[in-house]
Amino acid sequence: MTKMLYNDSLIDINDAKLSINDRGFQFGDGIYEVIKVYDGSMFTATEHIDRLYRSADEIRLVIPYTKDVLHKMLYDLVEANELVTGHIYLQITRGVAPRNHAFPTEFTMPTFIAYTQEAKRPINNHRFGVSAIFVEDIRWLRCDIKSLNLLGNVLAKQKAHEAHCYEAIQHRGEIITEGASSNIYGIKDGVLYTHPINNYILNGITRQVVMECCKKIKLPVVEEPFTKEQALQMDEVFLSSTTSEITPIIKIDDTIIQSGEPGKYTRKIQLAFEEKIQQLLLV
Ligand SMILES: *Cc1c(COP(=O)(O)O)cnc(C)c1O
Repeated sequence: MTKMLYNDSLIDINDAKLSINDRGFQFGDGIYEVIKVYDGSMFTATEHIDRLYRSADEIRLVIPYTKDVLHKMLYDLVEANELVTGHIYLQITRGVAPRNHAFPTEFTMPTFIAYTQEAKRPINNHRFGVSAIFVEDIRWLRCDIKSLNLLGNVLAKQKAHEAHCYEAIQHRGEIITEGASSNIYGIKDGVLYTHPINNYILNGITRQVVMECCKKIKLPVVEEPFTKEQALQMDEVFLSSTTSEITPIIKIDDTIIQSGEPGKYTRKIQLAFEEKIQQLLLV
């Protein structure tokens, strides 16, 4: 039977019972992470766990485990489910309490859950690229927190889905921020551009790996916002996330990006990313 973590125990996933008074359910009052697993090994787990604790700090939620204990719990979950390639989803909410917007008492224990999902890598998307649409970014001003409140992202992604596109590229006014569930990059004349890390975007762990890959292939990086118009003029556009990895964007709205094929720098970044995964498996 498939297992999940429910607070500090491993239980059968079919035995899970959650309270209707959970603040995650009623307010989206919590945070989450998605960690990729390649060949049974967690990729950049430490970085994801660090970000989870940062998100928790920002919403004033105290996680009742040390980072090391949490890491071990996730490791045991992967083992128990014999997960090969896929991901771990984990979330933590401010716990169960009668509905009231203000925080519950300090004695309320957060609710922690984690489960695994077997999933093939999206190699066709990597090879051929995907389409995207522009969508106005209507989210709140703390997009740096990986919060369970995803309504803005959900509405953006649904628009993309209805347009038969893979991702929604969000923009505030003319400035591109990020995708509904990914970070966005443009490459022009041998320079990579991407929105700087601030409250308008989520600091992607895959984005951090992309930065390392750029260093490796000696591609200069400029962390400055760019506009919708500039995006359409880029030589290459791509997105990154834990589950999508490095995915080329070959069309935005009705505009095909250059030749309509994944660009040469994007391919180099994909190769450098692949090496990072291989390094993980050698350890
Ligand atoms: C999770 C997420 C990303 C990508 O972050 P990774 O750590 O690379 O998976 C980008 N944008 C948003 C809004 C996200 O929720």
